Amino acid sequence: MAANSRPRATKQRRFVFEAIKKAHRHPTADWVFDQVRIDMPKISLGTVYRNLNVLKNEGQLREILGTDRRARYEARMDPHGHFICLVCSEVRDVEDVPAIEWEPLRDLVGCEVMEQRVEFRGLCPACRRKEQQA
Ligand SMILES: [Zn+2]
Ligand SMILES: [Zn+2]
Repeated sequence: MAANSRPRATKQRRFVFEAIKKAHRHPTADWVFDQVRIDMPKISLGTVYRNLNVLKNEGQLREILGTDRRARYEARMDPHGHFICLVCSEVRDVEDVPAIEWEPLRDLVGCEVMEQRVEFRGLCPACRRKEQQA
């Protein structure tokens, strides 16, 4: 039975991954679910979440928590920062964020640093415009 379900699981994972790769923004699981459902009408949101987690643990996806506490995903793994809007939770990529030297951190916090994440928060242009009109 496991042997039978494996090709389907692989296909589901590939569709989830492809949906994220073609997304212009940092999509939520709901968005991915809607995309994948077009080709795989029987897939469940739970399966989408499970595949997102597997891909994340494999290091193929990165998860970004929005200010609304919902997870966003991206397949872009090169170093870059994120801007997250405090009002609408839109996530934007920020380029050319200088990388800091990790080695001294090991002594400072006694931990092995594996990733640098830079996050900025504020108002996106659309929300700032709304704020100014109010
Ligand atoms: Zn906004
Ligand atoms: Zn990004």
